Amino acid sequence: MGLLSQGSPLSWEETRRHAEHVRKHGILQFLHIYRAVRDRHKDVLKWGDEVEYMLVKFDHENKKVRLVLCGEEVLQTLQDKGEKVNPNHPTLWRPEYGSYMIEGTPGQPYGGTMSEFNTVQDNMRKRRQEAASVLKENEAVCTVTSFPSTLTRNIRHRRGEKVVINVPIFKDKNTPSPFIETFPNDDGEAAKASKPDYIYMDAMGFGMGNCCLQVTFQACSISEARYLYDQLATICPIVMALSAASPFYRGYVSDIDCRWGVISASVDDRTREERGLEPLKNNHYRISKSRYDSIDSYLSECGEKYNDIDLTIDKDIYEHLIKEGIDHLLAQHIAHLFIRDPLTLFEEKIHLDDANESDHFENIQSTNWQTMRFKPPPPNSDIGWRVEFRPMEVQLTDFENSAYVVFVVLLTRVILSYKLDFLIPLSKVDENMKMAQKRDAVRQGMFYFRKDICKGGNAVVDGCGSAQNGTGTDAEEYSLMSIDTIINGKEGVFPGLIPILNSYLENMEVDVDTRCTILNYLKLIKKRASGELMTVARWMREFIAQHPDYKQDSVITDEMNYSLIWKCNQIAQGQAECPELLGVGFNKKQSGNKTGSV
Ligand code: GLU
Ligand code: MG
Repeated sequence: MGLLSQGSPLSWEETRRHAEHVRKHGILQFLHIYRAVRDRHKDVLKWGDEVEYMLVKFDHENKKVRLVLCGEEVLQTLQDKGEKVNPNHPTLWRPEYGSYMIEGTPGQPYGGTMSEFNTVQDNMRKRRQEAASVLKENEAVCTVTSFPSTLTRNIRHRRGEKVVINVPIFKDKNTPSPFIETFPNDDGEAAKASKPDYIYMDAMGFGMGNCCLQVTFQACSISEARYLYDQLATICPIVMALSAASPFYRGYVSDIDCRWGVISASVDDRTREERGLEPLKNNHYRISKSRYDSIDSYLSECGEKYNDIDLTIDKDIYEHLIKEGIDHLLAQHIAHLFIRDPLTLFEEKIHLDDANESDHFENIQSTNWQTMRFKPPPPNSDIGWRVEFRPMEVQLTDFENSAYVVFVVLLTRVILSYKLDFLIPLSKVDENMKMAQKRDAVRQGMFYFRKDICKGGNAVVDGCGSAQNGTGTDAEEYSLMSIDTIINGKEGVFPGLIPILNSYLENMEVDVDTRCTILNYLKLIKKRASGELMTVARWMREFIAQHPDYKQDSVITDEMNYSLIWKCNQIAQGQAECPELLGVGFNKKQSGNKTGSV
């Protein structure tokens, strides 16, 4: 999640005192980077995935499963056995928000050849096995909830009160109506903040304690990165809905399927003034979103006319950037990220060499947790301009995670090769984000999507061609579509992303084995989109609904939780089949059957 560095963390009061310093030097650091690498081009496609894992322990005797707070220790062991002894070790391990979480990535980025797609799942499997091999008896690598830290404290202090997360309860046959919780140890805060028919949560860990699946790509140039950033932003809600995997919170069945809004509320450090609840007195602006949320502005010239969300920016920073020759779209993007305060600061990292370090820039940048992240190269490195795709929920198995990752990477190739244009007004993308989190959005949701995605024609990386006349957008350009239509296409309505990917693949030289792997991944996505296969969220709901202990009252007991997580673990290990989730026959590699693996 960024920002998890080592040193002596300052208190919120001390951090706040340095906020201007961090912002000022963060901008200077950005300018140094920009000047050094703005013309960098011809970088090749490199990419990598990040999988976040949870560490759990099964108590088979009492039928309980608990998170284990051993992330630090596990991480240390994994690093000592891996990257520290072998710079070419195939996996890398990093800390994550909760002490029961770790994050794993491939040791080296993947390259641009098609055969790399055939190695993703093997690498994910290696990670899972590696992590499992350093765990104690009855412990496993898996999924869910909370643990407070310095960051948590500072979010609370900046905001001035606890975070409030209210998730609608799923109303089952026997769920009390209204559903009202009582909190025995409450000092009054919970009673005030909780709402009837909602599951109430009050800590950062309920959100940031959730796991996700992310992909980062290196673009060939800054303009390609900006183009991909915009195009993929429109895809975020669609793929998030397809990856839906988090229907349960704090022991209850909720009415949402995705973590997004929960994390957003869990790290919402805006004060009452910034949230518009009180007149501005001590703060500078009203801010319409949490620092974890969807993006607020497109970055490419083609995107400009679709920027229809009010953008709060730090005006001084914007003017400074413009004066230094940064264009309007990039300047406003940075000036928007920089309305936020740093959340942590380490005593050893206050005074930096702005020409050669970027910690202050990264401090603000990496605590703007948005659907997409535009990543300038680190100073003095051979890394190019990158974009990160961040909305996906982590799946139960390496097969599914590989499928989603490969689907997104292939989509970037198709967007670039066919010069596709998915842009719609950003406010519509935001509406899609809301829709995507709803229960069963994959089958029931309707999403705004661009009708003619080839229309951009020459509206590509370095210019916007003919589609760019005027400033208004044409409501005819987009319409409401189901995920099935968007992904699989519908005659006379929309070609579908999978058919486009397939036709791209037909024109590529791909070895038979890799092609087979890719086709299996695309089949999973296709069938999830059509509803033929379940999302993880839907599968979990059905698992709980059918559990003999479930009383149709939206309550998940310890024992139900135990059997659910145990089942998830078995599926992930290839010890239990789950055709309704994974299909039959096309996830061979998952079950330890080596046929077809490289
Ligand atoms: N765990 C967070 C999520 O589910 C992301 C943290 C990160 O940025 O690595 O979105
Ligand atoms: Mg992470």
